[in-house]
This record gives sequence, structure tokens and C-alpha cells, in this order.
Amino acid sequence: MDNSADLAVGQPDTYGRSSLAAVDPTVHELLVRQEQQERTTLKLIASENFASSAVLEATGSIFTNKYAEGYPGGRYYAGNDIVDELENLAIERLKKLFGSEHANVQPYSGSPANQAVYRALLKPCDKVMGLPIPEGGHLTHGWAINFSGTDYRRVPYGLHEKTQQIDYDRLREIAKRERPRLIWVGGTAYPRVFDYAAMTEIAFEVNAYLVADIAHISGLIVAGAHPNPVPHCDVVSSTSHKSIRGPRGGFILSRNEDRYQALYHRNSKYNLARRIDRAVFPHLQGGPHINVIAALAVALQEAATPSFRSYGQQTVKNAKALAQALLERGYDLVTGGTDNHMLILDLRDRPLSGKAYAERLAKAGIITNFNMVPGDPRDPAVTSGIRLGAPAVTSMGMREVEMVQIAGLIDSVLRRPDDEDLHAGVRRDVADLCAAFEVPGITDR
Ligand SMILES: *Cc1c(COP(=O)(O)O)cnc(C)c1O
Repeated sequence: MDNSADLAVGQPDTYGRSSLAAVDPTVHELLVRQEQQERTTLKLIASENFASSAVLEATGSIFTNKYAEGYPGGRYYAGNDIVDELENLAIERLKKLFGSEHANVQPYSGSPANQAVYRALLKPCDKVMGLPIPEGGHLTHGWAINFSGTDYRRVPYGLHEKTQQIDYDRLREIAKRERPRLIWVGGTAYPRVFDYAAMTEIAFEVNAYLVADIAHISGLIVAGAHPNPVPHCDVVSSTSHKSIRGPRGGFILSRNEDRYQALYHRNSKYNLARRIDRAVFPHLQGGPHINVIAALAVALQEAATPSFRSYGQQTVKNAKALAQALLERGYDLVTGGTDNHMLILDLRDRPLSGKAYAERLAKAGIITNFNMVPGDPRDPAVTSGIRLGAPAVTSMGMREVEMVQIAGLIDSVLRRPDDEDLHAGVRRDVADLCAAFEVPGITDR
């Protein structure tokens, strides 16, 4: 039977390859629509960004096909000599950028990276301190519905009632009383700089590992726009797709030696670096995503340039300008402002929920996410806050003037949440604003 017709899906392009449009017009059309949406709307989601065309090219490359379980020089599959070079390149670039002794680039994303940190440092049921979600923490820092809250004993620490910033004195008290084995420093909705030196001191006093989760701020750190936790922490985990503008993925940085080896791991023959590696593979993962590691290497090359430094600095300036313009229009911000790339609008005293406002803003082409605020009286499924971030619009080349303009657009929607004509008008203004800028990965190909 001749089944060559079945094999020849779609029409080959001029290179004899089959293009996405020919093979799967349905997915292609969704992609075109998504691109159209992203270049005509304002991406103000603090965790999102635009990866460059070079990063996207590496992500979509034939490195996606390779199996490479293991680490450079010790793989369980043949044919990995080039892949070894590639992974070592990503590792070396990462170590150099952050000044770290050890790096692992295999975690599939930020949450799996954190899972590996738990496995490398703790035993099940050990105590872990983290910031709760309503106060800006991440699911994986000991939240009840996450593995980190079910498999470990969670000890939350919190914010100072007045400043809404981490209450370091209180944190010390709790740590001394509870004796956690790990303390997380980092967050997903915390608009201020972390005091790593203060946290190290506390962790040291109670013999706890200090782990920084820099998922949101890794790009700012590389750009010198936020302090680097690497000199202070035992381990640092991150995503690679947020402010650092790489592919979707994760990485872990650490020291080689464990300062608590004799205390907590005296029966292990592995040092800290080896335990991290073994936690990622073979404990949690199988084959690493080589295409993602290739794209990470590219992103790290980009991040090492002076223009990335300006990008990171401008991101913070833009967030501050947006915050200032919203404050001037009478809005409340969690902590009263920002030191980094994000701000959280506190809408507790407004009639609608954060979710309802985020939906109205989206209709007007302003893409945000609703978020808990400290002391939020509403359900996490609706909340009373909206988180805004500058990384993506800064990647488009926007500056302070545009932030003031954006604050005006946000204000007009939030003021008249039920005026659909007004939303349609804002939608047009947003599209005009976006049309004046390049969108990396979309308009620059
Ligand atoms: C985004 C984020 C993560 C998780 O990353 P995923 O890639 O979504 O799994 C972990 N920690 C913090 C602080 C984050 O902001």
C-alpha cells in the first residue's frame, strides 16, 4: 500500500520544508492572532517580557530533538559532544554574569527549580520560612495548596503593617522561635529591594539555609538595578523568561560547598553543588530541554551587553514613573511605590474587584493581572489588587513619557469601568502608542 500521501503533510516551502501555515493552518492562525494581539496591546504583566528573535530562533531550533540525560561529560546518550559544549557555554556565561561558583541550567522552569532546591537541602517535613502569597510570596515558598506546603512544615513571615515591607525584626523573632532549616527571600509581587545582608545574618543565627528566588528580578540584577544575592545566599533560583528576557525555563546558582554539611548532611558524600545537580537529574527530571538551554545561552550573551544594562536601569525608571503618575492620580500602591520593575495597585476601597478591573483594562488593550494585596478581604480568585510591570513595555523601547501616558489610560478605564465606548477609544489609543515601537521577536524579524 502506498501511504506516501499520508506522510506528506502540508506543502513544502522553498527549502523543501513544510511551513507551519501549510501543515497546521489552525495553529498558525492562532499564532498570527496572538502576534497581532501582542503588538497592538500593552503587556504590563510583571512576569512577562519579549524574548529577542535570536532567543526565539534558538528555542525553535533542532536542539529540541536531542536527548541528553546527564551532565556535560557524563551523558546517558551518545552524540552529545556539541550539546556538551552548548550546556557548558550556558553554565559559564551564567556563573560569570552572577559571580556564582556553580550553575545548573536544566530546570524546566522556576517551580521545578525550587523543587530541586528543596530536595537538595531538606528532608520532608523540615521547616521552611517564606512570604505568604497575599504578601507577595510565591506558591513554592510554603503555600498550603503547593507541594512546599504539604510536604514541608511551613512557617510564614510577613510584612510590617505600616510600611508593607518585610518586617526583618519580626522575621528574626519567628526564625529564633521556629528554627526553620530554610528561609526563602524573594517574591512574585513584592515591589521593593530585599535586604539580603539582614536575611543572611538571621539565617546564620538559626543555622538555616538562605535561598533567594530571583525569578522576577534576575534581569535587574544582571543590569545592576537590584542588589545581587549570590554573595549572601547558599542557593539562588530563578526563571529565565521574566526580566532577563530568555526562553521559558529555570536555573539554579549555588556555592560548591555546603556551610551546613557537617550539621545536616554529614552522611552525604556529595557537596552542595553535586546535590543540586543530582536533585535536578535524576531525582526530579529526565532529559533537559537542549533547545531552551541554547536559547538561555543566547539570552545570557545579550544580557552581558551595555544595552541590556541600560534596559534594566530603564525598566526600574519606567516602573517608578508609572508609580508616580498613578500616585498623582490618587491611587494607593502597596508599600507606596516601587524600587524594582513592578507595582501593585491597592483597589480595596474601590467598588469592583481586581479581577473585574483587570478584565475592563484588557478590553481597552491594557493587559495586567489581578493580585492579592496585603490584608486583602476578597477571595484569591478575584482579589482587590492589580499588579503592573514595566519589563515588556521597556523592551519595546518605551520611556518615562509613555509611562505617564499609560497611567492616564489606566486611570480613565478604572474611573469609568462600565463605559464601553470609552474602553474602545482607549483601545485605539493603545494601538496607536504600540505602533510607534518595535516589538522584539515580532516586528523586528
Ligand atoms: C514566576 C516565579 C516562579 C515560578 O516560575 P514558573 O516558571 O512559573 O514555574 C517561582 N518563584 C517566583 C518568585 C516567581 O515569580
